[in-house]
Amino acid sequence: MSGINERSALSIAQRQFDATADAIGLDDSLRAVLREVKRELVVHFPVEMDDGSFRVFTGFRVQHNIARGPAKGGLRYHPAMTLDDARALAMYMTWKTAVADVPFGGAKGGVVCDPKALTITELERLTRRFTTEISLIVGPDRDIPAPDLGTGPQVMAWIMDTLSMHAGFSVPASVTGKPQSIGGSEGRFTGPGRGLTMVTVLAMRDAAMDPSGARVAIQGFGKVGGVCAELMTAEGMNVVAVSDSSCGLYRPEGLDLTALRHLKEEGGHFTDYGGAEQIDREQLLTLDVDVLVPAALEAQVTERNADRIRATVIAEGANAPLTTEADAMLNERGVLILPDILANAGGVVVSYFEWVQDIQAYFWGSGEVTSRLREVMTRSYQQVRGEAQSHDVTLRNAAFRIAVTKVAEATKVRGIYP
Ligand code: GLU
Repeated sequence: MSGINERSALSIAQRQFDATADAIGLDDSLRAVLREVKRELVVHFPVEMDDGSFRVFTGFRVQHNIARGPAKGGLRYHPAMTLDDARALAMYMTWKTAVADVPFGGAKGGVVCDPKALTITELERLTRRFTTEISLIVGPDRDIPAPDLGTGPQVMAWIMDTLSMHAGFSVPASVTGKPQSIGGSEGRFTGPGRGLTMVTVLAMRDAAMDPSGARVAIQGFGKVGGVCAELMTAEGMNVVAVSDSSCGLYRPEGLDLTALRHLKEEGGHFTDYGGAEQIDREQLLTLDVDVLVPAALEAQVTERNADRIRATVIAEGANAPLTTEADAMLNERGVLILPDILANAGGVVVSYFEWVQDIQAYFWGSGEVTSRLREVMTRSYQQVRGEAQSHDVTLRNAAFRIAVTKVAEATKVRGIYP
């Protein structure tokens, strides 16, 4: 993953899996199956640039496990994306869909590119050609992509259109996170932030902490962080710090989120904003707050800054924002960590709702999406908390125990072909 140079992302994911397999006494043959990804496709493809030249890009699609249903997971457009990242993140998706108990396996993919450095027409040609290349293994029954870092509804619309053009008819269930005009779901965009807010409020109440008035710092102000800032504020929490890729903003009395949203909509950066103290992004993580939401990239809290974290709750908005060492250090200090495969599952849960609605061609209102999301997030949180209590383990270890047990059970009962 971008940011982790020392060890491969897959080996970190495998270490976490191995520890879980040990803890639940998983037999060696199932362990050998689940610690590897099932299928990986690497593609190198040309794209015509606006000046008439051609550039060759590299992309990936990795499917970790499909025992519980079609593969599911996002597509990332990022200059530091690697095949190894896709493998690790595909494995996390398998665990995430299992914790939320939605009938999918895990996948991840992406293209090595900086989407901000491409024009809209270049981005469209890149997306359509990449979709064509991976169409060998994706589709509504096989593998359903969704947004991740650097992609969003417009990219999903081009993917859906490309797959539909090849099929000769519309295939809306081939991708989730689409615009609503072509079969996207109410509440998909806000799903990750909403799910994260729901789990944070539940966990704080359980720990006898009052969410109302709690000070929150959010690293990131995108699809997860931005939505989370608004929804946590609606819960009475006080969002005192947020960041984008330019800098962090800090205002102890609470930030004016409407002004910040407008600034972002107009293409501005937080360094252009005068209504709060500008701080560096690293400093945001160590502010004196109750709740820290790392909702940007992987490996942001490391052994180098973990001892300076002052939050009592960390809700993981990004995938793998804490290194294994930082996680251990913070657990030692009794920080309540809400793990990514539970806390940010709201995105894939609403993706599941979108896929179901597309297949049925019957669409739900936003109230229904929110109440079903609340049902799934509450049930998942309670199961994880119950597992943590009965085995005296962290919420992360409990979530992994539940996930690996479910996927192992499905793999075992299906048996090994032939
Ligand atoms: N990219 C998101 C994640 O990491 C969503 C995946 C999906 O909806 O399929 O969970």
